[in-house]
Formats: sequence, C-alpha cells, structure tokens
Amino acid sequence: MANIRALRFHAKNDVRVEDVTIQACGNDDVRVKIAYCGICGTDVHEYLGGPIFPPQPGQSNPHTGAELPVVMGHEMSGTIVEVGSNISQVKVGQNVAINPSMDDRHHGKERCVTCESGRPNICKNWACYGLSAHGGGFADEIVVRAVSCIPLPKGVSLKVGALAEPLAVASHMIRISGFKKGQDAVILGAGPIGLSLLLLLKSRGARKVIISEVTELRSRQAEKFGADLVVNPLAKSPDGDNFDTWNPVLDAMHGIIVDGADIVFDATGIQSTMDTAMAVVKPGGIVFNVAIHEKPLLINPNSFSFKEVKLMGGICYTNEDFEDVLEDLASGKMAAEDMITSIVPLEKAIQGGFLELIHNRAEHVKILIQPSKSAHQV
Ligand SMILES: [Zn+2]
Repeated sequence: MANIRALRFHAKNDVRVEDVTIQACGNDDVRVKIAYCGICGTDVHEYLGGPIFPPQPGQSNPHTGAELPVVMGHEMSGTIVEVGSNISQVKVGQNVAINPSMDDRHHGKERCVTCESGRPNICKNWACYGLSAHGGGFADEIVVRAVSCIPLPKGVSLKVGALAEPLAVASHMIRISGFKKGQDAVILGAGPIGLSLLLLLKSRGARKVIISEVTELRSRQAEKFGADLVVNPLAKSPDGDNFDTWNPVLDAMHGIIVDGADIVFDATGIQSTMDTAMAVVKPGGIVFNVAIHEKPLLINPNSFSFKEVKLMGGICYTNEDFEDVLEDLASGKMAAEDMITSIVPLEKAIQGGFLELIHNRAEHVKILIQPSKSAHQV
C-alpha cells in the first residue's frame, strides 16, 4: 500500500513527520487532499504537556479505536479526491472545509438525545479528527465521513477555508450567547479565537466591541479588524490606584459603552480576566467563557447574583456554525486572511510551526501548514 506523509503525536515533546500507510475510503467516507491546516493552541498544549485529547499510552480511544501515535491537525481545508459508494451529497473535485468534531453518526451509532437536539458538539461519544481519531490534517490527505465536509462557497479560497474552524468556534459561542445586532461586547484576549469573535461580531452588527490584549501584534491586529478600542489590561492607573479599586478595561470603557457590556467573552481564562469580566458586564448581562482553563478560578457567586449576570460556556461547533462562517467569508466583509501570519510546509511543521508558536508567540496569530509544499513533492 502506498504511503503519505503525516505529522504524528507520539508523546509529549515527541511529534514526528513520517511515512504512514494510506487509509481505505469506506462507503460513507470521502478522501480529501489537504490544502492547508492551521496549528491550534490545543496542538501546542498537546506538544508541551499531552496526551490530553489523544489516547493514553497503551490505550485506545473508546469511540474511534485510535491508538498512539495519532496524526495531528484539525483546522483543515482541502479538495475531495475520492468518494465512497454511498455518497452523493459531495463530489470529487469539490473544495471543502472539514468539521473535525465526531459524534454518534461517525461511529455508526444511533443518534443520542443530545445529538437529536442539534448539539452533536457535546455528544457523549465525541471525538475529533487530528486528536483522537484515525487521520488528521497535518498530512497529505485524510479520510473522513462525508458528513464532516462543508463545501467552500464561491469566493472562499482554500487558504481562507482553513480558518473556518477557528471562526466556527467563535460563531458557535456568539450563536449560543444569544447575541443580537446593536449590542455591545468586550473580548478579553485577541488570540485567534478573540480576533475571530471580533471579526464576526462586527460583521454581524455589534454596536461597540472593546478588546483587552497584552501583546503588541495582536493589539494592532484587533485595531485593524475593527475594534472600537483596544486596552492593555496591564496599564497603570494614572492616579496610582491598584487593581483592587481600579480596572483598566472598566476605566477605558467610559464614554464608549455605558453601563457595561451586554456580553463579555473571556478568551484568555485566567483569574484577572474572570475578575475583569465580572467588573465590566452590565447588570443582567452575560459572561461567556470561551477559554480552556489550566487551573480552577475563584469566583464569588455574589458577583453574578448581585448583577443577575448569566455565566455561560461553550465548546466547538456544529456544521451550522461552519455554514454561517463560510457565508460571512463569502460576503467579503471580513478580512480574515490577515490572521495568517505564516505558512509552512509539512516537513518544517515542528521548527517553523510548533516551536515558532512556543518561542515567538507574540509574533503570530495563525500559522498554517501546507502539506503539498512539502520537500518530497517539490
Ligand atoms: Zn450523540
């Protein structure tokens, strides 16, 4: 059987670009030649401290049967090169984004109550291509269920298509937060998800969006993406007040957002961002956790009781969120491509991708891996 090149997670600090055997394309599957695949913060977490989502050594994922090493990469776009005999909804030659989230449908199971209610992203049988399944996007190709493919509309390039996944995360959070046109929002953190939230909120009619961000590059990017104000949360009080009595984000909001934000998205996930979220949300507003936390936080429940604040969280996306995002991208209203700070061939994915994000984090928003530019093919 022929081989493809793929980047696989073996263990913490041990990911390798190597030859792997190609997978068979089953009756309900499609084979997609990967064009681009973004490196996610999750991938970096796995590299530094995993396996978190991949199977543990000597074990297999209970839903997919995958064992270490697993092919990484879950922010993919590509072109369909083969379809299974049951497939008619997509065809060879079509460019697609891939929703890497797997649920009952992918495992040939009856759909559970959660999936039936339209929330397969929180299915108890959840797994993910590129983390806990056979196949991922840091590879020449992947075999996925046809249901995982969302065709790219006219005007959306394969390069931009690889941004559909991080944008779909943001779109999902906005959707379930109940955001309405004309509302004000504060976003804490301008990483890929924070910037995605900003782009989508502005394109969907937010009145004012304020961003809190520490790094220079991301602050400038937030300004470029239409933030009404970018605040450095480490700014010092002009009067020498300390953080207990003076909050830079709350202070900067005056005159822009009156009485607090309708929704505060925490895309950082540390104690100070949670404290800031509670301080800047309006009475009756929403504090929405988008971040993955490395440790628990202290929250005084009085802070949401006294303001009747709703505390919410969300994870991943559904195909509907991918479709919404691709529609926004096709409209040309969002300069999403500016999020891409580097494109690296697969053979250089570790040095130019993973290590670059670890050592030069402040200089990057999104790095894409481009398998077809790999050394063995050029
Ligand atoms: Zn389910």
